[in-house]
Amino acid sequence: MNVNLYTKDVQNLIKEIQNYRGRDLDRVLSVCDKVENYGREVSDDALIGFACFSRGETYYLMNDMRNFYAQMLACMTPMERIGEWGYVVMANNMLGIMSLNRGNAPFAMDYYMKALNYCHTYKLPDLEWIVHMNMGALYLNIEESQKALDHLENGYHYIMAHPERPDYFQNLMTAYLGMAKAFLNMELQSSAEKYSEKIHKECRPYLSPLDLLVVDCFEARLCREQGEQKRFKEAVDRINEGILRDVPIMDIFDDIYEYLKMLLDADCYEEFNRIYGVVQNLIEQTSIKNMEKKLLTLKIRYLKKVGQMNEYNQATIQYFEISEQMEKENRMMVTSMIGMRNSLNDLVAINREVKQENLALHRKSEIDPLTGIYNRYKLNEYGEIAYEQACKNHTSLAIEILDIDFFKQYNDNYGHQAGDEAIKEVARMMQKMAGSGNIFCCRYGGDEFVIIYEGYTKNETLKLAETLKEFINEKKIPHAYSKAEKHITISQGICWGEPTEQDMIWDYLKTADGLLYQVKKISRNSIRIGSMGDV
Ligand code: GH3
Ligand code: MG
Repeated sequence: MNVNLYTKDVQNLIKEIQNYRGRDLDRVLSVCDKVENYGREVSDDALIGFACFSRGETYYLMNDMRNFYAQMLACMTPMERIGEWGYVVMANNMLGIMSLNRGNAPFAMDYYMKALNYCHTYKLPDLEWIVHMNMGALYLNIEESQKALDHLENGYHYIMAHPERPDYFQNLMTAYLGMAKAFLNMELQSSAEKYSEKIHKECRPYLSPLDLLVVDCFEARLCREQGEQKRFKEAVDRINEGILRDVPIMDIFDDIYEYLKMLLDADCYEEFNRIYGVVQNLIEQTSIKNMEKKLLTLKIRYLKKVGQMNEYNQATIQYFEISEQMEKENRMMVTSMIGMRNSLNDLVAINREVKQENLALHRKSEIDPLTGIYNRYKLNEYGEIAYEQACKNHTSLAIEILDIDFFKQYNDNYGHQAGDEAIKEVARMMQKMAGSGNIFCCRYGGDEFVIIYEGYTKNETLKLAETLKEFINEKKIPHAYSKAEKHITISQGICWGEPTEQDMIWDYLKTADGLLYQVKKISRNSIRIGSMGDV
């Protein structure tokens, strides 16, 4: 935008926005109003676009999603009309960040891809690397490590080539850390270690306390994977000292979340509870439902692990309520997206690449990458429809949750890779059993799976569940550390019934889970089948 084209008064207003952005939010908003009004009087797209963009940026910082979307959307058309592609890129980039924070990865992908397209078409390398870094973060978020690496490396090359830029060391650290995370996800620990060392050697002295916190969260995870107790403990101690009461949680949520998840897996309950409390407070202040929900999944897992079943039940109800609120948010994101598509009209024919990425993402969002069977997202969708149909047609429905016995010991003794193979084998046996039709199988997470049987009697359901158990027992996958058998076994809880409108699929799932819990307490490698109200 060429500021010199305007009168001194207007120039001063623009300067005021630039000087106070991110610092005095109310002031920026009110100056934006003046700039936009003037822009409308003289029909100047640059001024209108600039005012909307600056407002959007401010609402982003205020975490006001509704206004953020409205303003970013409003800035797009005028900026496109006058070819201010830098702003169009920045707006798409921020829309991507906001969508990802709110748990909508496919939308985030769409925005980022559009931003990248503009960067390519209009040669904007100074912005392109930022989008690549964000794409890297997106792929890390959905555990597509290889793609994450591609984008992070792209960003890394730009950063390395521009040591003169502000925040050089911080950006370098972000690139190294992202790559280290991707390698750790891919179980390439030595590469992860290499990049972690680079952070310490090249960046550490220049990092802020917040950056160091993020680095330590990763360090703790890495050391635990490597069994380096001493370094692990040191990192945990530093985090305990470093976690501040007023950190910008939005920026570091993924790191803290992964750290908490690791503490839970490592049974470090005291540390887990301490950090959880702090983070929960911060998240509540932001009202970002997606983060609240992700955090709550950890709490649910924790409560289950320590056997606090009353709190566990409460937390699952809360989980459901948050999911409903997120549905509403998602509808709003869809509306904004459609609005934007219309405004762009023929300006951007969304290219094939975007479509392919989206297709992959959609598949990704319902398929479990390890086993290739459906995941819990698909269960949400499938389960509700199956339940509704059973209600309508007065047919029966059963939900089973099954869990591998002493799987932690299996992992610890035979290694993670062998653990993965065992999980895959269980998934294969499930599919073999499900060949009889009208049976849906998915991986619920970790060593847990869910099966929906449609239209089978209670006895038939039990027979099918027994068949699955036999398949798995016949495989005799050696497990010398199991207290149930000398091979891998499963425990199964099943809720069978004729669905009514008083209940929901989740009530069935909860009952099945309660039954599974009983099996685990009393005798593993067995099946318990019951109906609503039995737990
Ligand atoms: P229980 O009989 O009570 O079920 O005991 P368990 O040892 O199976 O306990 P739990 O279900 O809590 O342990 C699940 C373990 O599964 C914890 C984690 O190490 C492992 N795990 C989770 N996800 C994966 C995965 O994707 N791959 C592998 N290899 N292991 C996983
Ligand atoms: Mg288990």
